[in-house]
Amino acid sequence: MKQEIKSLTLSELKTALEEMKQPAFRSKQVYTWLHRGVRSFDEMTDLPKALREVLAERYLLTVPEVVRCQVSALDGTVKYLWRLSDGNCVETVLMKYHHGNTVCISSEVGCPMGCAFCASTIGGLVRRLSAGEMLDEVLFTELDSGEPISNIVLMGIGEPLDNYDNVCRFLELVNSGEGMNVGMRHISLSTCGIVPKILELAESRLQLTLSVSLHAPDDETRSRIMPVNRRWPVDELLAACREYYAKTNRRISFEYAMIRDVNDSPETARLLLKKLKGLPAHVNLIPLNNVEESPLKPSERGTVLRFQKILEDQGVACTIRRTLGGDIDASCGQLRRKYQKQTP
Ligand code: SAH
Repeated sequence: MKQEIKSLTLSELKTALEEMKQPAFRSKQVYTWLHRGVRSFDEMTDLPKALREVLAERYLLTVPEVVRCQVSALDGTVKYLWRLSDGNCVETVLMKYHHGNTVCISSEVGCPMGCAFCASTIGGLVRRLSAGEMLDEVLFTELDSGEPISNIVLMGIGEPLDNYDNVCRFLELVNSGEGMNVGMRHISLSTCGIVPKILELAESRLQLTLSVSLHAPDDETRSRIMPVNRRWPVDELLAACREYYAKTNRRISFEYAMIRDVNDSPETARLLLKKLKGLPAHVNLIPLNNVEESPLKPSERGTVLRFQKILEDQGVACTIRRTLGGDIDASCGQLRRKYQKQTP
């Protein structure tokens, strides 16, 4: 199998081209072309033809193909379904906020984590994405839509911390000044709570925003809806979050999907307050998106507002996530599922 050239960092590319006896300036040239989204080595017009041929022989240049692109009539959200070079599909969502365009990318094909309310995990994990494939999601969403991307959230299909090394490499690529140059503070990474990897990420002291999918403050409920909690229970997870804050000084964002009669009572809100005490946090309440295969239902609007008020009254920042792309299944693995169902 050929190596994917876009997964290489600039310094790795430098080494590779040095070994090919190329002058030092070539690596930056090639890297810049790659991060502009060229579709073939032949588009690298300022490279000698012989070098383009050697590169094409040695390396795979990934170019995802648009299988489907849906635009929301409600708010302009765009949802892409891409076909990767091995035929697998992943989705990317482009959301237009007042603070800039945000792209929500997938980190895996499928997901191994098994959360009860999530469509992405229904078929399990198929495979992890390479760093270059994650970069492609950002790059080709920008190229295809013509919309400059300023923010990235790793909140699509998959568990980013289950694909830790490739995700870190992706962060280096997308953050690089010779590439897309997206600032770390404009990137959020969402995890279901893989504690050792949260601690490892804390050590790297990256200035990205860590989002933790909490969804319940007690082990009984959380273990029921999120199997990962049986391995790393709530208190261990929150201890890791405190450590993350201590190391990075970055406020943690907690995601909390409101599920009717499961995690939405005032007592639950009060327990959540108690657990978050002293930890600079932001709680993002997400009205549960209906997943056909799941019996779990969204909370009533009034219940969500009541929950929010209890947190806010005690000084915890708490927002209710605006639903975008409601008419195009722009959430949580829904489009890929539909496509899979239609094409057995
Ligand atoms: N694996 C990572 C990132 C992908 S999921 C994680 O667990 O954080 C992105 C967010 O969507 C997570 O907070 C996840 O719990 C949430 N989510 C999944 N299915 C949902 C649904 N049906 N309704 C609302 N939120 C959902």
